[in-house]
Amino acid sequence: MKREEDDSFIARLSYDSDNLRQLGKVPISVPEDPYISSFISFSGEKVNPEKFFYSLFFTAFDVRDYGGKIEKFIKIFTPLNLKKVYLETYRDGFLVDKNLILDTKKILEKKGFKVSGAITTTHLSDKNQFNEILSPASCYTDKIARKRLKEIFELTAAIFNEIIIDDWYFTLCRCSYCQKQKGKKEWYEFRCKLLYDVAKKYIIEPSRKVNKKVKLILKLPQWYEDFHKSGYDLNKLIYIFDEVAVGTETRDYKVQRYMPVHGALLFKYIKNLIPDKVKKVWFDIYICDEKIFSEQAYQSVLGGAEEIILFCAGVLPQKNNRTIVENLIKNTDKIERLSGFSKIFSIPILRKANTEGDYKLHQYFLMMGIPVYLTDNINFKEKIVILTAQSEIEKNYKKLFLKLINNKKNIVMTINFAKVIKNYFKVKKIENPIKINTVNYNKKEAEVKDNIFINEEIINGKSVALFNNAYNLVSFFKIRESIIWVINFPFTTDTINTPEGNKESADYRYLLHNKIMAEVIRDIFRNFANVNLYEKIKTLYRYEI
Ligand SMILES: [Zn+2]
Repeated sequence: MKREEDDSFIARLSYDSDNLRQLGKVPISVPEDPYISSFISFSGEKVNPEKFFYSLFFTAFDVRDYGGKIEKFIKIFTPLNLKKVYLETYRDGFLVDKNLILDTKKILEKKGFKVSGAITTTHLSDKNQFNEILSPASCYTDKIARKRLKEIFELTAAIFNEIIIDDWYFTLCRCSYCQKQKGKKEWYEFRCKLLYDVAKKYIIEPSRKVNKKVKLILKLPQWYEDFHKSGYDLNKLIYIFDEVAVGTETRDYKVQRYMPVHGALLFKYIKNLIPDKVKKVWFDIYICDEKIFSEQAYQSVLGGAEEIILFCAGVLPQKNNRTIVENLIKNTDKIERLSGFSKIFSIPILRKANTEGDYKLHQYFLMMGIPVYLTDNINFKEKIVILTAQSEIEKNYKKLFLKLINNKKNIVMTINFAKVIKNYFKVKKIENPIKINTVNYNKKEAEVKDNIFINEEIINGKSVALFNNAYNLVSFFKIRESIIWVINFPFTTDTINTPEGNKESADYRYLLHNKIMAEVIRDIFRNFANVNLYEKIKTLYRYEI
């Protein structure tokens, strides 16, 4: 495939310059960037946070180009007070020279850094053409790919006692062999099992055989609601690794579907799934301005992260990025101070792994100033819980609901959850979607400017707030000893423009455009959480969403 045809997210991030480094096979997994020739240190006072530290990721290309000059190169990062460095051996079909890796590691260790290995599992064979979308992600039924995977891990494990795997360990392949192996299963089922089996047999076992002490870390991307679709299985896969690093690269909310608070949400979620194995986050500088890059760090630490892996050595010191990094250096003290509030998250939202529905909603509770956290533990201690379409698989909604009622829990639920529990909640389908023009609450009326609609309504319960003075936005129920609120979140036809040139849904941004709508929902939680405090510290900066 020619470079010009590569229209992917990554390719569009590449720098506008003639002087780009030669990288690996296309499509690429990391943006092309100019070679850095002047190794001037970032400005700023050297940071020294106590609750977390920074580490730096070198891609295979960074090791290739800067490994030989590592003593000078690493000085660029002095103010970040790096404690640890990750050196990648393989990415996009390119394997770094073993002696260069060994020499670079030795020099860095001598200088007092911890040094770990890294691998990106892209272009393991030449089957990318069968991917659902253009992507360097590999086919894992392919024998050549499996053999290559095993070799790369064996040689890396022989050098390092710890290896982190970049978040390209998923598959989008629909080659004839994958199709045949899938059989009657759903794609997600097939892929989850495939990546679990391959991780065991071609990553973990061979690495351990070479180096008994080796620790393997799986880095997860930020798109948790879609993990299972391409094989990241939160039920099984994550448990076979020694550690999991969480991707908090939420990037610019203006052009992406992640809100600034997303990092804390995701980190806490994964940490709740496997508490002892989650300490690290990882984010990059792509589609970031000064605020968003620092925000990614803040959300990570507020969520509880102890190590921030910065991606990557060849990109952070680029001319356009220096002030962004220097702003993080400046903000580090403040981030450390505010992270003292990390215990504020006190409203559980139940989420069962590998579920779908109410897409991208969770983060908006945080954006409205409600300190929620995601968990799959139904034995939570708090008195109130939020249920969405992702709280269970649909056929078990009723069982979950009855269990929570038995435990005298108060519940806030979306209409998508409520409508399945037919004996308690009456939800009526509306033939032609109704455009919402006003919200009415506590004798106040607010105009709605976004293009939002409802196509169903809650027709029982006590009305708390209305749309168009006619349809329940929130309905209130008392069932046995539980209080229940059902929220009818409208859908929107508004969109945002992504860097790839696509239009994507504006999701629930309307909640943040309409003060009364957010107030209705926030008021439900006032007696259960410190919403006033969280509102003050929820983000490092204030944003016009
Ligand atoms: Zn395949």
